[in-house]
Amino acid sequence: MKTIGLLGGMSWESTAGYYRAINEGVKAQLGGLHSAQIALYSVDFAPIEQLQHAGDWDATAQLLSEAALKVQSAGADALLICTNTMHKVAPQIEAALDIPLIHIADATAQVLLDQGVKRVGLLGTAFTMEQAFYKGRLAERFGLDVVVPNDADRALVHEVIYQQLCLGDIRAASRDAYIRIIEALARDGAEAVILGCTEIGMLVSQSDTAVPLVDTTAIHAEAAVAFVLAD
Ligand code: GLU
Repeated sequence: MKTIGLLGGMSWESTAGYYRAINEGVKAQLGGLHSAQIALYSVDFAPIEQLQHAGDWDATAQLLSEAALKVQSAGADALLICTNTMHKVAPQIEAALDIPLIHIADATAQVLLDQGVKRVGLLGTAFTMEQAFYKGRLAERFGLDVVVPNDADRALVHEVIYQQLCLGDIRAASRDAYIRIIEALARDGAEAVILGCTEIGMLVSQSDTAVPLVDTTAIHAEAAVAFVLAD
């Protein structure tokens, strides 16, 4: 088995989900007492979040590249950045490493293409919903037609992520709001909706709506399991 590297802590609430999902995936395939070989570096999210909202992405790239090198030194054979948003600086992190990066948007797009989806809704932080590093990659590399919520709903989705989900605060009213927004995206022609923030799966699950949901945390963890168990 290969060793997977995790760059976590963004937030730790969702990194805990990665840790569980990757171990469960390995156990499901190998059975018994098998578990995943994981090298995890978990950052302090507070300074990262401040730099994001100040627009100082170069500083985040520097911090995360240094952390990723520690994961590589710990013996990882590939790296997952356990957040959609920080894939904004994936090119800089990738350039600092010798090991491959398993990109969350690429893994997600592949699942959508396999499902035959062409038009897809996207929920995530404002950075993820509005900037080219994520939306543009889905469109340009995979030909997906990406729709996002209106201005007010994007602000709501963003606020709930930073003020509630990243703090482990799960509220029924926020779930209702997210479901309303997901169903509006479906009325706008989305055949599925990407939960494009690694904490959204803590709030919303497939049993809450008939609209097909694509959870980036689950998909990214599955990609890690496939990588570590591949010959
Ligand atoms: N975990 C979130 C994401 O997947 C948001 C936290 C962050 O800004 O990294 O985008």
